[in-house]
Amino acid sequence: MATRTSPPVTLLVLGAAGDLTRRLLLPGLATLLGTERDRRVRVRGADRAQLSPAQWRARVEDAFSSVETPTAVTSRVVEDTDYVSADILDPDALSQLVGSCGEGPLVVFFALPPSVTMDCCELLARVDLPEVTRLALEKPFGTSRESARRFNGLLHRVVPEEQVFRIDHFLGVNTVLNLVGLRFANRLLQPVWDRDHIERVEIVYDEDLALEGRAGYYDGAGALRDMLQSHLLQVLALFAMESVATLDAEELQDQKAQVLRATHPWGRSPSRAARRARYTAGRLGRRRVPDYTAEKGVDPSRMTETLAQVTLGVETNRWAGVPFVLRSGKALGTARKEVVVTFREVAHLPEGFTGRPGPDRLVIGLKPGSMDLTMTMNAEGDPFDLEQKMLSAKLAPPRMQAYGEVLGQVLDGSRLLSVRADSAEECWRIVEPVLRAFGRGSVPMEEYAAGSDGPEGWQR
Ligand code: NDP
Repeated sequence: MATRTSPPVTLLVLGAAGDLTRRLLLPGLATLLGTERDRRVRVRGADRAQLSPAQWRARVEDAFSSVETPTAVTSRVVEDTDYVSADILDPDALSQLVGSCGEGPLVVFFALPPSVTMDCCELLARVDLPEVTRLALEKPFGTSRESARRFNGLLHRVVPEEQVFRIDHFLGVNTVLNLVGLRFANRLLQPVWDRDHIERVEIVYDEDLALEGRAGYYDGAGALRDMLQSHLLQVLALFAMESVATLDAEELQDQKAQVLRATHPWGRSPSRAARRARYTAGRLGRRRVPDYTAEKGVDPSRMTETLAQVTLGVETNRWAGVPFVLRSGKALGTARKEVVVTFREVAHLPEGFTGRPGPDRLVIGLKPGSMDLTMTMNAEGDPFDLEQKMLSAKLAPPRMQAYGEVLGQVLDGSRLLSVRADSAEECWRIVEPVLRAFGRGSVPMEEYAAGSDGPEGWQR
């Protein structure tokens, strides 16, 4: 994506003293501004935390330094930033805050708890906003299809959909973005990207970290909502969508939405398509990890899964019959973050060859970026004995954090890397039957030791 000069924008961060702002938003912005140095962004923080202007500036500076931002860029942002301590749900305070942002383009970033974001939108619908106002918000986009629809309705009372940016930072991960180039700029792969040539697709995001102090959030969400419903479905949509004529944001959104509309639990049987598990005590490297149910802040009666796997079918001419296995979990022995494409075997292998090493595979490493193509050939030694060889490419580190890529698009007013309203609703529609099956107890809760590869017998 080309770097270009953008008009100065005010980024108003609501919930500026929170975790998202500190861990993702400010460092992401720093890498964006460090990479695209001609961008001008004025950052305003607002939160109910009583921070002095100096304390806020120190926070911004810390976040920028944590990602080694050039000093000149940090100083420019720090000099120009300000902080307002206010209850955002106080109508007068909110109106005053927005009114004091000036006339230029305004991006209101909701780094607030979801219920506060909704209440804030109710108030914003009654506030005079600058002509160019964009709303940026993080997942969860609702908790069900119906609530996502209601939330979208509320957002549209503030600004039209074209001015809403639902952030999914996976869409800014360079290797996820690369799926578009890999698929549509590549003569070799284009003709084999369908059910005739591909047998199955796995989209895996296994973490070798446990809760990292986020039990408060995670125990209410679980692996299915936290990862599959959002990030991994976005990867699936980019993987499976039809070709686009241009990299126009709406065109891309249309194609992604079409795939999501066609996606259902495998065999339309959610309880058979899904598996779930929870980690028990174990070790992650040198660290002892307690049983999930004994982690501080966890309520065992919620039956929250820390590992979820759902097989989905994309019911289109291109993909019918190809299982898409989405899996993600915490506290696993290996951080495996990849898309694995298994190709069908040749229809006929000439008689006389020995050995049949299995199907060819393309493994797209999401983090770190890599591409490994395993191909069958008659290689060294006996020329009639088949072996597999790997063609490997390691991708250079990304030019900036994924969050920076996504923020850059928002600041430019491009929805290329955000999630459109209809897709946000579809993602809930896809997982809702699985969530109901979990709730009914018709998918057993399995167990795996922290630091292991998951429960016995799960696909690896
Ligand atoms: P936090 O609770 O850490 O931060 C929210 C901030 O908003 C807090 O400082 C909170 O103050 C403040 N706040 C709440 N209500 C008001 C109010 N009425 N007026 C002013 N300030 C208020 O949440 P996170 O930063 O973790 O998450 C923010 C959003 O981002 C959520 O929607 C979450 O789902 C999403 N998200 C977060 C991720 C993360 O890594 N943290 C990842 C992906 C999404 P106080 O502490 O006093 O309540």
